[in-house]
Amino acid sequence: MADLHKEIEKRRTFAIISHPDAGKTTLTEKFLLYGGAINLAGSVKGKATARHAVSDWMEIEKQRGISVTSSVLQFEYDGFCINILDTPGHQDFSEDTYRTLMAADSAVMVIDGSKGVEAQTRKLFKVCVMRHIPIFTFINKMDRDSNDPFDLLDEIEKELGIATCPINWPIGSGKNFKGVYDRNTKKVMTFSDTLKGTKEGEEKEFALDSEELLTEIGEDYKEQLEEEIELLDGASAEFDMDLVSKGQLSPVFFGSALTNFGVETFLQHFLQMTTSPLPRVSDKGEIDPFSEDFSAFVFKIQANMNKAHRDRIAFMRICSGQFKAGMEVFHVQGNKQLKLSQPQQLMAQERKIVEEAYAGDIIGVFDPGIFSIGDTLTTAKEKFAFEGIPTFAPEHFARVRQLDTMKRKQFVKGISQIAQEGAIQIFQEYNTGMEEIIVGVVGVLQFDVLKFRLENEYNVEIRLENLPYEHIRWIENKDIDLDHLSGTSDMKKIKDLKGNPLLLFVNAWSVGMTLDRNEGLVLSEFGTN
Ligand code: GDP
Repeated sequence: MADLHKEIEKRRTFAIISHPDAGKTTLTEKFLLYGGAINLAGSVKGKATARHAVSDWMEIEKQRGISVTSSVLQFEYDGFCINILDTPGHQDFSEDTYRTLMAADSAVMVIDGSKGVEAQTRKLFKVCVMRHIPIFTFINKMDRDSNDPFDLLDEIEKELGIATCPINWPIGSGKNFKGVYDRNTKKVMTFSDTLKGTKEGEEKEFALDSEELLTEIGEDYKEQLEEEIELLDGASAEFDMDLVSKGQLSPVFFGSALTNFGVETFLQHFLQMTTSPLPRVSDKGEIDPFSEDFSAFVFKIQANMNKAHRDRIAFMRICSGQFKAGMEVFHVQGNKQLKLSQPQQLMAQERKIVEEAYAGDIIGVFDPGIFSIGDTLTTAKEKFAFEGIPTFAPEHFARVRQLDTMKRKQFVKGISQIAQEGAIQIFQEYNTGMEEIIVGVVGVLQFDVLKFRLENEYNVEIRLENLPYEHIRWIENKDIDLDHLSGTSDMKKIKDLKGNPLLLFVNAWSVGMTLDRNEGLVLSEFGTN
Protein backbone atom coordinates (compact mmCIF):
# COMPACT_ATOMS: atom_id res chain seq x y z
CA MET A 1 0.00 0.00 0.00
CA ALA A 2 2.76 2.43 1.00
CA ASP A 3 4.60 1.32 -2.12
CA LEU A 4 1.62 1.99 -4.32
CA HIS A 5 1.38 5.50 -2.96
CA LYS A 6 5.09 6.11 -3.42
CA GLU A 7 5.11 4.78 -6.97
CA ILE A 8 2.19 6.94 -8.05
CA GLU A 9 3.47 10.00 -6.21
CA LYS A 10 6.71 9.99 -8.20
CA ARG A 11 5.04 9.85 -11.60
CA ARG A 12 4.90 12.76 -14.01
CA THR A 13 3.18 12.34 -17.34
CA PHE A 14 3.42 15.01 -20.00
CA ALA A 15 2.95 15.49 -23.71
CA ILE A 16 5.51 17.31 -25.80
CA ILE A 17 4.35 19.32 -28.78
CA SER A 18 6.13 21.45 -31.33
CA HIS A 19 6.30 22.62 -34.87
CA PRO A 20 8.40 20.23 -36.98
CA ASP A 21 12.09 21.09 -36.59
CA ALA A 22 11.65 23.24 -33.49
CA GLY A 23 13.70 20.71 -31.55
CA LYS A 24 11.27 18.31 -29.88
CA THR A 25 13.31 15.23 -30.70
CA THR A 26 16.53 16.85 -29.57
CA LEU A 27 14.97 18.02 -26.30
CA THR A 28 13.46 14.59 -25.66
CA GLU A 29 16.82 12.95 -26.27
CA LYS A 30 18.51 15.29 -23.81
CA PHE A 31 15.87 14.45 -21.21
CA LEU A 32 16.52 10.77 -21.75
CA LEU A 33 20.21 11.43 -21.44
CA TYR A 34 19.73 12.92 -17.98
CA GLY A 35 17.66 9.94 -17.05
CA GLY A 36 20.43 7.66 -18.25
CA ALA A 37 17.97 5.86 -20.51
CA ILE A 38 20.21 6.24 -23.52
CA ASN A 39 23.90 6.89 -23.53
CA LEU A 40 25.60 9.80 -25.18
CA ALA A 41 27.48 7.59 -27.62
CA GLY A 42 24.24 6.11 -28.82
CA SER A 43 22.68 9.45 -29.42
CA VAL A 44 25.68 10.88 -31.24
CA LYS A 45 26.04 7.82 -33.39
CA GLY A 46 22.39 7.97 -34.28
CA LYS A 47 22.53 11.62 -35.19
CA ALA A 48 21.85 11.24 -38.89
CA THR A 49 18.77 9.21 -38.16
CA ALA A 50 17.95 10.83 -34.85
CA ARG A 51 14.81 12.39 -36.19
CA HIS A 52 13.29 8.99 -36.61
CA ALA A 53 15.24 6.92 -34.19
CA VAL A 54 13.28 7.20 -31.02
CA SER A 55 9.69 7.68 -31.80
CA ASP A 56 8.81 7.74 -35.44
CA TRP A 57 7.46 4.53 -36.83
CA MET A 58 5.85 4.87 -40.11
CA GLU A 59 7.45 4.95 -43.49
CA ILE A 60 5.47 8.03 -44.45
CA GLU A 61 6.96 9.84 -41.52
CA LYS A 62 10.44 9.14 -42.78
CA GLN A 63 9.57 10.25 -46.26
CA ARG A 64 8.09 13.51 -45.17
CA GLY A 65 9.97 14.12 -41.98
CA ILE A 66 6.78 14.64 -40.04
CA SER A 67 5.56 12.68 -37.14
CA VAL A 68 2.18 11.13 -37.86
CA THR A 69 1.73 8.91 -34.87
CA SER A 70 2.62 9.52 -31.31
CA SER A 71 4.54 7.34 -28.96
CA VAL A 72 5.47 7.09 -25.34
CA LEU A 73 8.79 7.04 -23.55
CA GLN A 74 9.54 6.46 -19.92
CA PHE A 75 12.61 7.30 -17.89
CA GLU A 76 13.67 7.94 -14.32
CA TYR A 77 15.27 11.13 -13.11
CA ASP A 78 16.03 12.36 -9.61
CA GLY A 79 13.56 10.01 -7.98
CA PHE A 80 10.80 10.78 -10.48
CA CYS A 81 9.37 8.40 -13.02
CA ILE A 82 8.66 10.43 -16.14
CA ASN A 83 6.40 9.51 -19.03
CA ILE A 84 6.78 11.57 -22.19
CA LEU A 85 4.06 11.38 -24.79
CA ASP A 86 5.27 12.41 -28.19
CA THR A 87 2.76 14.05 -30.53
CA PRO A 88 2.52 14.56 -34.28
CA GLY A 89 4.19 17.77 -35.40
CA HIS A 90 1.64 18.90 -37.95
CA GLN A 91 -1.68 20.53 -37.29
CA ASP A 92 -3.47 18.24 -39.70
CA PHE A 93 -3.12 15.68 -36.94
CA SER A 94 -4.37 17.94 -34.20
CA GLU A 95 -7.12 15.52 -33.26
CA ASP A 96 -4.51 12.88 -32.53
CA THR A 97 -2.61 15.43 -30.48
CA TYR A 98 -5.76 16.21 -28.53
CA ARG A 99 -6.28 12.54 -27.67
CA THR A 100 -2.70 12.29 -26.53
CA LEU A 101 -3.15 15.39 -24.40
CA MET A 102 -6.11 13.62 -22.77
CA ALA A 103 -3.65 11.06 -21.49
CA ALA A 104 -1.23 13.70 -20.16
CA ASP A 105 -1.30 15.79 -17.01
CA SER A 106 0.67 18.64 -18.53
CA ALA A 107 2.23 19.70 -21.81
CA VAL A 108 5.57 21.05 -22.94
CA MET A 109 5.46 23.33 -25.95
CA VAL A 110 8.74 23.68 -27.83
CA ILE A 111 9.12 26.84 -29.87
CA ASP A 112 11.94 27.78 -32.21
CA GLY A 113 13.20 31.15 -30.99
CA SER A 114 13.85 32.38 -34.50
CA LYS A 115 10.39 31.44 -35.74
CA GLY A 116 7.95 31.93 -32.88
CA VAL A 117 4.47 30.43 -33.14
CA GLU A 118 4.39 29.05 -36.65
CA ALA A 119 1.31 28.91 -38.87
CA GLN A 120 1.37 25.15 -39.11
CA THR A 121 1.41 24.76 -35.36
CA ARG A 122 -1.11 27.37 -34.36
CA LYS A 123 -3.95 24.89 -34.30
CA LEU A 124 -1.89 22.29 -32.46
CA PHE A 125 -1.00 24.72 -29.72
CA LYS A 126 -4.59 25.89 -29.48
CA VAL A 127 -5.66 22.31 -28.97
CA CYS A 128 -3.23 22.27 -26.08
CA VAL A 129 -4.88 25.29 -24.50
CA MET A 130 -8.33 23.69 -24.97
CA ARG A 131 -7.36 20.84 -22.69
CA HIS A 132 -6.83 23.17 -19.69
CA ILE A 133 -3.73 21.45 -18.39
CA PRO A 134 -0.50 23.20 -17.36
CA ILE A 135 1.51 24.27 -20.40
CA PHE A 136 5.24 24.85 -20.15
CA THR A 137 7.00 26.70 -22.91
CA PHE A 138 10.57 25.97 -23.90
CA ILE A 139 11.92 28.54 -26.34
CA ASN A 140 14.66 26.68 -28.12
CA LYS A 141 17.67 27.39 -30.34
CA MET A 142 18.85 30.47 -28.47
CA ASP A 143 22.31 29.69 -29.81
CA ARG A 144 20.91 30.87 -33.15
CA ASP A 145 19.78 34.43 -33.92
CA SER A 146 16.40 34.65 -32.29
CA ASN A 147 13.47 37.01 -32.30
CA ASP A 148 13.20 39.58 -29.57
CA PRO A 149 12.13 37.67 -26.43
CA PHE A 150 9.43 40.23 -25.61
CA ASP A 151 7.98 39.77 -29.09
CA LEU A 152 8.04 36.01 -28.64
CA LEU A 153 6.05 36.26 -25.41
CA ASP A 154 3.64 38.69 -27.02
CA GLU A 155 3.06 36.32 -29.84
CA ILE A 156 2.34 33.37 -27.56
CA GLU A 157 -0.10 35.46 -25.56
CA LYS A 158 -1.89 36.80 -28.64
CA GLU A 159 -1.94 33.63 -30.69
CA LEU A 160 -2.85 31.25 -27.93
CA GLY A 161 -4.71 33.47 -25.52
CA ILE A 162 -2.62 32.33 -22.58
CA ALA A 163 -0.58 34.53 -20.25
CA THR A 164 3.17 33.89 -19.98
CA CYS A 165 5.60 34.12 -17.12
CA PRO A 166 9.30 33.85 -17.99
CA ILE A 167 11.17 31.86 -15.37
CA ASN A 168 14.47 32.75 -16.94
CA TRP A 169 15.53 35.37 -19.44
CA PRO A 170 18.01 35.15 -22.31
CA ILE A 171 20.97 37.45 -22.69
CA GLY A 172 21.51 37.93 -26.41
CA SER A 173 21.15 35.16 -28.96
CA GLY A 174 23.06 33.49 -31.75
CA LYS A 175 26.77 34.29 -31.75
CA ASN A 176 26.08 36.73 -28.97
CA PHE A 177 24.18 34.35 -26.74
CA LYS A 178 25.66 34.92 -23.29
CA GLY A 179 23.38 32.82 -21.13
CA VAL A 180 20.20 33.06 -19.13
CA TYR A 181 19.19 34.99 -16.05
CA ASP A 182 17.17 33.10 -13.45
CA ARG A 183 14.50 35.47 -12.17
CA ASN A 184 14.05 33.55 -8.98
CA THR A 185 17.64 33.09 -7.81
CA LYS A 186 18.73 36.33 -9.51
CA LYS A 187 21.73 34.54 -10.94
CA VAL A 188 23.07 34.35 -14.44
CA MET A 189 24.12 31.07 -15.96
CA THR A 190 26.56 31.71 -18.76
CA PHE A 191 26.55 29.84 -22.00
CA SER A 192 29.59 28.19 -23.47
CA ASP A 193 29.49 26.44 -26.79
CA THR A 194 29.44 22.70 -26.29
CA LEU A 195 30.10 22.09 -29.98
CA LYS A 196 26.60 20.91 -30.61
CA GLY A 197 26.40 19.03 -27.37
CA THR A 198 29.41 16.81 -28.04
CA LYS A 199 31.54 18.51 -25.43
CA GLU A 200 30.77 19.03 -21.77
CA GLY A 201 29.63 22.62 -21.33
CA GLU A 202 31.23 24.90 -18.78
CA GLU A 203 28.19 26.55 -17.30
CA LYS A 204 29.14 29.17 -14.76
CA GLU A 205 26.85 30.93 -12.38
CA PHE A 206 27.18 34.57 -11.37
CA ALA A 207 25.16 36.83 -9.14
CA LEU A 208 23.54 39.65 -11.10
CA ASP A 209 25.37 42.41 -9.23
CA SER A 210 28.78 40.72 -9.23
CA GLU A 211 31.90 42.15 -10.84
CA GLU A 212 32.61 38.75 -12.37
CA LEU A 213 29.43 38.88 -14.38
CA LEU A 214 30.39 42.25 -15.77
CA THR A 215 33.72 40.85 -16.91
CA GLU A 216 32.09 37.74 -18.29
CA ILE A 217 29.37 39.30 -20.46
CA GLY A 218 30.52 42.89 -20.86
CA GLU A 219 28.95 46.18 -19.92
CA ASP A 220 26.53 46.51 -22.83
CA TYR A 221 24.89 43.17 -22.23
CA LYS A 222 24.75 43.71 -18.51
CA GLU A 223 23.02 47.06 -18.98
CA GLN A 224 20.60 45.64 -21.44
CA LEU A 225 19.82 42.77 -19.11
CA GLU A 226 19.14 45.11 -16.22
CA GLU A 227 16.80 47.19 -18.33
CA GLU A 228 14.95 44.13 -19.52
CA ILE A 229 14.61 42.72 -16.02
CA GLU A 230 13.05 45.98 -14.91
CA LEU A 231 10.67 45.89 -17.83
CA LEU A 232 9.81 42.28 -17.14
CA ASP A 233 9.17 42.80 -13.46
CA GLY A 234 6.83 45.63 -14.33
CA ALA A 235 5.07 44.14 -17.33
CA SER A 236 4.87 40.38 -17.21
CA ALA A 237 2.32 38.34 -15.26
CA GLU A 238 3.37 37.28 -11.78
CA PHE A 239 4.04 33.64 -11.24
CA ASP A 240 0.88 32.06 -9.90
CA MET A 241 0.87 28.30 -9.43
CA ASP A 242 -2.90 28.18 -9.40
CA LEU A 243 -3.14 29.78 -12.84
CA VAL A 244 -0.39 27.49 -14.11
CA SER A 245 -2.30 24.39 -13.01
CA LYS A 246 -5.43 25.63 -14.74
CA GLY A 247 -3.51 26.15 -17.97
CA GLN A 248 -4.02 29.90 -17.95
CA LEU A 249 -0.43 30.90 -17.34
CA SER A 250 2.54 29.31 -19.06
CA PRO A 251 5.95 29.33 -17.39
CA VAL A 252 8.49 30.13 -20.11
CA PHE A 253 12.09 28.93 -20.32
CA PHE A 254 14.79 29.87 -22.78
CA GLY A 255 17.54 27.49 -23.80
CA SER A 256 19.23 25.49 -26.48
CA ALA A 257 18.47 21.79 -26.63
CA LEU A 258 21.20 20.97 -29.10
CA THR A 259 23.97 22.48 -27.02
CA ASN A 260 22.33 21.11 -23.92
CA PHE A 261 21.96 24.52 -22.37
CA GLY A 262 19.12 25.15 -19.94
CA VAL A 263 17.66 21.69 -20.46
CA GLU A 264 18.35 20.25 -17.04
CA THR A 265 17.26 23.43 -15.27
CA PHE A 266 14.09 23.29 -17.27
CA LEU A 267 13.50 19.67 -16.30
CA GLN A 268 14.11 20.44 -12.63
CA HIS A 269 11.72 23.39 -12.56
CA PHE A 270 9.19 21.46 -14.54
CA LEU A 271 9.23 18.59 -12.06
CA GLN A 272 8.72 20.98 -9.18
CA MET A 273 5.84 22.77 -10.86
CA THR A 274 3.91 19.72 -12.00
CA THR A 275 1.94 17.31 -9.89
CA SER A 276 1.68 13.57 -9.64
CA PRO A 277 -1.21 12.01 -11.61
CA LEU A 278 -4.45 13.92 -11.13
CA PRO A 279 -7.92 12.48 -10.47
CA ARG A 280 -9.99 11.77 -13.58
CA VAL A 281 -13.68 12.40 -14.06
CA SER A 282 -16.01 9.44 -14.59
CA ASP A 283 -19.78 9.03 -14.68
CA LYS A 284 -19.56 8.08 -10.99
CA GLY A 285 -17.53 11.12 -9.97
CA GLU A 286 -13.79 11.66 -9.69
CA ILE A 287 -11.55 8.62 -9.53
CA ASP A 288 -8.70 8.93 -7.05
CA PRO A 289 -5.39 7.93 -8.68
CA PHE A 290 -4.17 6.48 -5.38
CA SER A 291 -7.12 4.10 -5.14
CA GLU A 292 -6.13 0.43 -5.00
CA ASP A 293 -8.44 -0.44 -7.86
CA PHE A 294 -6.86 -0.36 -11.27
CA SER A 295 -8.52 1.80 -13.90
CA ALA A 296 -7.46 3.08 -17.32
CA PHE A 297 -8.88 4.48 -20.53
CA VAL A 298 -7.92 3.90 -24.13
CA PHE A 299 -6.76 7.08 -25.85
CA LYS A 300 -5.12 5.72 -28.93
CA ILE A 301 -5.30 2.69 -31.16
CA GLN A 302 -2.53 2.02 -33.61
CA ALA A 303 -2.49 -0.84 -36.07
CA ASN A 304 0.43 -2.34 -37.93
CA MET A 305 3.17 -0.54 -36.04
CA ASN A 306 5.27 -3.57 -36.49
CA LYS A 307 5.14 -4.72 -40.10
CA ALA A 308 6.35 -8.18 -39.25
CA HIS A 309 3.52 -8.79 -36.83
CA ARG A 310 0.67 -6.75 -38.22
CA ASP A 311 -0.40 -6.17 -34.70
CA ARG A 312 -2.77 -3.68 -33.30
CA ILE A 313 -2.02 -1.92 -30.07
CA ALA A 314 -4.43 -0.06 -27.83
CA PHE A 315 -2.66 2.56 -25.74
CA MET A 316 -4.16 3.26 -22.39
CA ARG A 317 -3.45 5.71 -19.66
CA ILE A 318 -3.61 4.21 -16.22
CA CYS A 319 -5.72 6.49 -14.04
CA SER A 320 -5.65 4.67 -10.73
CA GLY A 321 -4.02 1.83 -8.88
CA GLN A 322 -1.53 -0.66 -10.20
CA PHE A 323 -1.40 -2.81 -13.28
CA LYS A 324 0.10 -6.28 -13.05
CA ALA A 325 0.83 -8.52 -16.01
CA GLY A 326 -1.82 -11.14 -16.51
CA MET A 327 -4.37 -9.35 -14.36
CA GLU A 328 -8.06 -9.63 -15.17
CA VAL A 329 -9.89 -6.39 -15.79
CA PHE A 330 -13.40 -5.42 -16.71
CA HIS A 331 -13.87 -3.75 -20.08
CA VAL A 332 -16.81 -1.47 -19.37
CA GLN A 333 -17.94 -0.69 -22.93
CA GLY A 334 -17.59 -4.34 -23.96
CA ASN A 335 -19.28 -5.45 -20.72
CA LYS A 336 -16.73 -8.21 -20.43
CA GLN A 337 -14.02 -9.48 -18.11
CA LEU A 338 -10.71 -9.91 -19.94
CA LYS A 339 -7.01 -10.42 -19.55
CA LEU A 340 -4.81 -7.68 -21.00
CA SER A 341 -2.34 -9.46 -23.21
CA GLN A 342 1.20 -8.54 -24.13
CA PRO A 343 1.24 -5.32 -22.15
CA GLN A 344 4.16 -3.25 -23.30
CA GLN A 345 5.92 -0.05 -22.62
CA LEU A 346 8.52 1.87 -24.52
CA MET A 347 11.88 2.39 -22.93
CA ALA A 348 13.96 4.68 -25.09
CA GLN A 349 14.20 2.76 -28.34
CA GLU A 350 12.86 -0.58 -27.29
CA ARG A 351 9.50 -2.00 -26.58
CA LYS A 352 9.44 -4.26 -23.59
CA ILE A 353 6.84 -6.31 -21.84
CA VAL A 354 5.78 -4.69 -18.59
CA GLU A 355 5.27 -6.63 -15.43
CA GLU A 356 3.74 -3.78 -13.52
CA ALA A 357 2.72 -0.20 -14.09
CA TYR A 358 1.03 2.51 -12.05
CA ALA A 359 -1.39 5.40 -12.32
CA GLY A 360 0.19 7.94 -14.64
CA ASP A 361 1.84 5.31 -16.84
CA ILE A 362 0.88 4.48 -20.38
CA ILE A 363 0.75 0.88 -21.50
CA GLY A 364 0.04 -0.56 -24.89
CA VAL A 365 -1.87 -3.83 -25.04
CA PHE A 366 -2.53 -6.15 -27.90
CA ASP A 367 -5.98 -5.38 -29.27
CA PRO A 368 -7.85 -8.12 -31.14
CA GLY A 369 -10.27 -5.46 -32.37
CA ILE A 370 -12.38 -5.02 -29.25
CA PHE A 371 -11.32 -1.61 -28.02
CA SER A 372 -12.49 1.79 -29.11
CA ILE A 373 -11.01 5.14 -28.25
CA GLY A 374 -12.34 6.34 -24.90
CA ASP A 375 -13.06 2.85 -23.47
CA THR A 376 -12.67 2.26 -19.74
CA LEU A 377 -11.03 -0.73 -18.05
CA THR A 378 -11.15 -1.31 -14.33
CA THR A 379 -10.94 -3.80 -11.50
CA ALA A 380 -13.22 -1.72 -9.27
CA LYS A 381 -16.30 -3.51 -7.96
CA GLU A 382 -18.52 -0.59 -8.72
CA LYS A 383 -18.18 -0.09 -12.47
CA PHE A 384 -17.76 3.33 -13.96
CA ALA A 385 -16.82 4.87 -17.29
CA PHE A 386 -14.38 7.72 -17.78
CA GLU A 387 -15.56 10.79 -19.64
CA GLY A 388 -15.46 10.23 -23.40
CA ILE A 389 -12.92 11.80 -25.72
CA PRO A 390 -14.63 14.21 -28.11
CA THR A 391 -14.14 13.69 -31.82
CA PHE A 392 -13.35 16.72 -33.90
CA ALA A 393 -15.72 17.60 -36.71
CA PRO A 394 -14.07 16.69 -40.03
CA GLU A 395 -13.54 19.66 -42.33
CA HIS A 396 -12.59 17.88 -45.54
CA PHE A 397 -14.50 15.17 -47.30
CA ALA A 398 -13.79 12.82 -50.18
CA ARG A 399 -15.47 9.94 -51.88
CA VAL A 400 -13.31 6.83 -51.93
CA ARG A 401 -13.10 4.78 -55.10
CA GLN A 402 -11.44 1.44 -54.99
CA LEU A 403 -9.42 0.70 -58.12
CA ASP A 404 -9.47 -3.08 -58.02
CA THR A 405 -13.01 -4.13 -57.13
CA MET A 406 -11.86 -7.72 -56.56
CA LYS A 407 -10.23 -6.59 -53.34
CA ARG A 408 -13.46 -5.49 -51.76
CA LYS A 409 -12.90 -7.41 -48.52
CA GLN A 410 -9.43 -6.03 -47.87
CA PHE A 411 -10.65 -2.57 -48.70
CA VAL A 412 -13.53 -2.66 -46.24
CA LYS A 413 -11.33 -4.20 -43.57
CA GLY A 414 -8.55 -1.67 -44.07
CA ILE A 415 -10.67 1.41 -44.14
CA SER A 416 -12.75 0.24 -41.16
CA GLN A 417 -9.65 -0.47 -39.11
CA ILE A 418 -8.09 2.87 -39.93
CA ALA A 419 -11.36 4.55 -38.98
CA GLN A 420 -11.46 2.62 -35.69
CA GLU A 421 -8.07 4.06 -34.87
CA GLY A 422 -9.68 7.47 -35.20
CA ALA A 423 -7.32 8.56 -38.00
CA ILE A 424 -10.24 9.22 -40.32
CA GLN A 425 -14.02 9.12 -40.05
CA ILE A 426 -16.04 7.14 -42.52
CA PHE A 427 -19.59 7.63 -43.66
CA GLN A 428 -21.96 6.09 -46.12
CA GLU A 429 -24.50 7.45 -48.51
CA TYR A 430 -27.77 7.75 -46.68
CA ASN A 431 -29.55 5.14 -48.79
CA THR A 432 -26.81 2.64 -49.57
CA GLY A 433 -24.35 0.36 -47.84
CA MET A 434 -20.56 0.10 -47.81
CA GLU A 435 -20.30 0.34 -51.61
CA GLU A 436 -20.09 4.13 -51.44
CA ILE A 437 -17.76 5.37 -48.78
CA ILE A 438 -17.22 8.97 -47.86
CA VAL A 439 -14.21 9.84 -45.76
CA GLY A 440 -14.02 12.86 -43.51
CA VAL A 441 -10.76 14.21 -42.07
CA VAL A 442 -9.72 17.09 -39.86
CA GLY A 443 -6.56 17.83 -41.86
CA VAL A 444 -5.93 17.04 -45.53
CA LEU A 445 -2.67 15.21 -44.82
CA GLN A 446 -4.81 12.48 -43.29
CA PHE A 447 -6.06 11.68 -46.81
CA ASP A 448 -2.48 10.96 -47.83
CA VAL A 449 -1.96 8.76 -44.81
CA LEU A 450 -5.13 6.83 -45.63
CA LYS A 451 -4.09 6.25 -49.23
CA PHE A 452 -0.57 5.30 -48.22
CA ARG A 453 -1.66 2.92 -45.51
CA LEU A 454 -4.29 1.18 -47.62
CA GLU A 455 -1.66 0.56 -50.28
CA ASN A 456 1.11 -0.50 -47.95
CA GLU A 457 -0.70 -2.35 -45.22
CA TYR A 458 -3.72 -3.73 -47.05
CA ASN A 459 -2.48 -3.83 -50.63
CA VAL A 460 -5.48 -1.86 -51.85
CA GLU A 461 -5.29 1.05 -54.26
CA ILE A 462 -7.82 3.81 -54.02
CA ARG A 463 -8.66 7.08 -55.69
CA LEU A 464 -9.97 9.95 -53.64
CA GLU A 465 -12.46 12.31 -55.18
CA ASN A 466 -12.70 15.52 -53.21
CA LEU A 467 -16.14 16.68 -52.19
CA PRO A 468 -16.95 20.36 -51.65
CA TYR A 469 -18.44 19.98 -48.15
CA GLU A 470 -16.87 21.70 -45.18
CA HIS A 471 -19.48 21.47 -42.47
CA ILE A 472 -20.83 18.38 -40.83
CA ARG A 473 -23.72 18.14 -38.39
CA TRP A 474 -25.01 15.22 -36.40
CA ILE A 475 -28.79 15.13 -36.08
CA GLU A 476 -29.73 15.00 -32.44
CA ASN A 477 -33.46 14.32 -32.89
CA LYS A 478 -33.91 10.57 -32.90
CA ASP A 479 -37.40 10.72 -34.38
CA ILE A 480 -36.69 12.97 -37.33
CA ASP A 481 -38.17 12.02 -40.70
CA LEU A 482 -35.14 12.43 -42.91
CA ASP A 483 -37.00 11.89 -46.14
CA HIS A 484 -39.07 14.95 -45.51
CA LEU A 485 -36.32 17.18 -44.23
CA SER A 486 -36.37 20.45 -46.09
CA GLY A 487 -32.71 21.24 -46.73
CA THR A 488 -30.72 23.51 -49.00
CA SER A 489 -29.56 22.47 -52.46
CA ASP A 490 -25.97 22.01 -51.28
CA MET A 491 -26.98 19.70 -48.43
CA LYS A 492 -26.11 16.00 -48.45
CA LYS A 493 -27.57 13.31 -46.21
CA ILE A 494 -25.20 10.63 -45.02
CA LYS A 495 -24.94 8.20 -42.11
CA ASP A 496 -22.10 7.08 -39.88
CA LEU A 497 -21.18 3.43 -39.30
CA LYS A 498 -23.65 3.12 -36.47
CA GLY A 499 -26.41 4.29 -38.78
CA ASN A 500 -26.75 7.73 -37.20
CA PRO A 501 -27.94 10.30 -39.73
CA LEU A 502 -25.77 13.31 -40.52
CA LEU A 503 -25.85 16.26 -42.82
CA LEU A 504 -23.05 17.76 -44.89
CA PHE A 505 -23.08 21.35 -46.07
CA VAL A 506 -20.88 23.38 -48.37
CA ASN A 507 -21.22 26.53 -46.34
CA ALA A 508 -22.22 27.65 -42.88
CA TRP A 509 -25.08 29.71 -44.23
CA SER A 510 -26.89 26.55 -45.38
CA VAL A 511 -26.69 25.10 -41.88
CA GLY A 512 -28.63 28.07 -40.51
CA MET A 513 -31.07 27.95 -43.43
CA THR A 514 -31.83 24.27 -42.86
CA LEU A 515 -32.40 24.89 -39.15
CA ASP A 516 -34.81 27.70 -40.03
CA ARG A 517 -36.75 25.56 -42.46
CA ASN A 518 -37.19 22.61 -40.11
CA GLU A 519 -38.72 23.52 -36.83
CA GLY A 520 -37.47 21.52 -33.88
CA LEU A 521 -34.41 20.17 -35.73
CA VAL A 522 -31.37 19.98 -33.45
CA LEU A 523 -27.94 19.77 -35.08
CA SER A 524 -24.65 19.19 -33.30
CA GLU A 525 -21.09 19.73 -34.43
CA PHE A 526 -19.66 16.88 -32.43
CA GLY A 527 -20.14 13.18 -32.32
CA THR A 528 -18.74 11.24 -29.39
CA ASN A 529 -16.81 8.05 -29.38
P1 GDP B 1 11.70 18.18 -34.16
O1 GDP B 1 11.22 18.07 -35.57
O2 GDP B 1 10.93 19.23 -33.41
O3 GDP B 1 11.75 16.89 -33.43
O4 GDP B 1 13.18 18.79 -34.26
P2 GDP B 1 14.61 18.10 -34.06
O5 GDP B 1 14.88 17.87 -32.64
O6 GDP B 1 14.73 16.96 -34.99
O7 GDP B 1 15.55 19.32 -34.54
C1 GDP B 1 15.50 19.85 -35.83
C2 GDP B 1 16.85 20.40 -36.21
O8 GDP B 1 17.19 21.49 -35.35
C3 GDP B 1 17.97 19.40 -36.06
O9 GDP B 1 18.87 19.59 -37.10
C4 GDP B 1 18.59 19.75 -34.72
O10 GDP B 1 19.94 19.40 -34.66
C5 GDP B 1 18.42 21.25 -34.69
N1 GDP B 1 18.32 21.78 -33.32
C6 GDP B 1 17.57 21.32 -32.29
N2 GDP B 1 17.76 22.06 -31.18
C7 GDP B 1 18.65 23.02 -31.51
C8 GDP B 1 19.27 24.09 -30.79
O11 GDP B 1 19.03 24.31 -29.60
N3 GDP B 1 20.13 24.87 -31.49
C9 GDP B 1 20.42 24.66 -32.80
N4 GDP B 1 21.29 25.47 -33.38
N5 GDP B 1 19.88 23.67 -33.50
C10 GDP B 1 19.00 22.85 -32.87
